[in-house]
Amino acid sequence: MSAVVVLGGGYAGLASAARLAKLGHSVTLLEATGELGGALVPVREEGFAWDASATSTLLPAVMRDLFRKSGRPAERELELVPLDVVREHRFTDKTSVAVPGGTRGAQLAAFDELGAGMGKRWTDYVARFSDDWEVLRAHYFEVPWEPAALPSAVAERFRSRETLHKRLRKTFKDERLRLVASHPFVTAGQQLRDVPAWAGLTAYLEQRFGAWRVEGGMGTVAEVLAARMATRRVSVETATRVEDIVVRDGRAVAVSTTAGEIDLGHDGAVVVAFDPRALPTLRPFVDRTMPAIPPMTFHLGLDSLPEHLVDLPDELVLHGDPTLVVRTRGQAPAGHHAWTIHSYGKLMEDVLLALARHKIDVREHVVHRVDLGAAELVRRWNGSPLGVKWAGRDTVFQRLGPRTPIEGVYAAGAHATPGSGLPFAGLSASLVAQTIGPA
Ligand SMILES: Cc1cc2nc3c(=O)[nH]c(=O)nc-3n(C[C@H](O)[C@H](O)[C@H](O)COP(=O)(O)OP(=O)(O)OC[C@H]3O[C@@H](n4cnc5c(N)ncnc54)[C@H](O)[C@@H]3O)c2cc1C
Repeated sequence: MSAVVVLGGGYAGLASAARLAKLGHSVTLLEATGELGGALVPVREEGFAWDASATSTLLPAVMRDLFRKSGRPAERELELVPLDVVREHRFTDKTSVAVPGGTRGAQLAAFDELGAGMGKRWTDYVARFSDDWEVLRAHYFEVPWEPAALPSAVAERFRSRETLHKRLRKTFKDERLRLVASHPFVTAGQQLRDVPAWAGLTAYLEQRFGAWRVEGGMGTVAEVLAARMATRRVSVETATRVEDIVVRDGRAVAVSTTAGEIDLGHDGAVVVAFDPRALPTLRPFVDRTMPAIPPMTFHLGLDSLPEHLVDLPDELVLHGDPTLVVRTRGQAPAGHHAWTIHSYGKLMEDVLLALARHKIDVREHVVHRVDLGAAELVRRWNGSPLGVKWAGRDTVFQRLGPRTPIEGVYAAGAHATPGSGLPFAGLSASLVAQTIGPA
């Protein structure tokens, strides 16, 4: 049995630890804060609980695979619920589209409501990503990849100069379709001019597999995985900040923390599941990457709402300057509602007034409110859970993961994947487990 130390107890760290423990390793998990879950830990105040980051996930199969491969299947511990409407977009010209997940036909009909032929234009755009997904899942997303030995179909995509910005300009005359297609990237802190076109394949995942929420909120995933640490005998050290990895003769030999040094033995391994730029030993290998920054966030506790505001979809996007994203499904006491608002762009007035301009006037109903700026969020999370900011096609080679240049050191999590989001963080943990292999 070899020793593995997992650094960071967010979703990716928990997933890596659970998988590696099941593979027979003796696993220690180190987390800087007092609680496991990272960005999945809800904000809890005055009887309300708001998901701090993710509220739904694409590719539920990744989560199911994690649960199956590390113990009891997900169905025994979580209720994954498909969303009928992934999100509704309301545009400045007063038109709107409620985007369904999981079927092409439903998306065709929904987009046709924006005008004749729009459905076909949208579904043709999405269909182009089908080959990208099949090629990349087989050689990149689901198997540990070697940058120096990429199959030509993967290399061709990674070397393409086509950006998502260019693809959307070329594909859509209608600005509304461009806004829908760019939404997942804008909200992940990306600039479309810097994102390669192939990364747009998330639209295909959304259409084909749908988006899924977890009953009780995403905090439930963190709780269930934290409990799995105990059943898998992972030794968990919270309130322990990792300062660096100690390397001797090119190999990791120990982890230094605020609570002292942890020896890895002669064949131990380290999995870095947070931004590797924070570790002096890894920083030189990732000094060309920058983190994507989270949006301004407002958690609102609301009392009884008028009917037209009770039936909003789980996620409502109010396009404009700034664009506001309203997430309506936080946990609230009876007769109350817990909403989260994210603001993208410069907010020059109070968020409640900005919402009221979109005819969503909740000013009379706010009973509690938590405002969090980007800097405060990054401080709370000890980094950004949105991972690396795209800076062109080469970013894919500038991130670490699953391997790193240091023997015995592996990387998982948002900073080791081509996109933030639970499916990619989950896949990165699977890649690390495959690379390290059974004890
Ligand atoms: C506003 C917002 C909305 C989002 N919405 C969605 C969504 O709807 N769907 C979706 O799939 N994804 C969404 N995401 C992305 C998703 O939350 C992340 O991809 C995911 O949580 C990343 O998990 P992680 O484990 O990689 O990182 P994190 O959750 O950031 O975990 C990293 C952990 O490492 C710890 N740590 C950091 N430094 C140290 C150190 N030196 N020593 C010890 N521990 C350390 C941190 O405290 C933290 O617990 C959203 C993100 C944001 C910000």
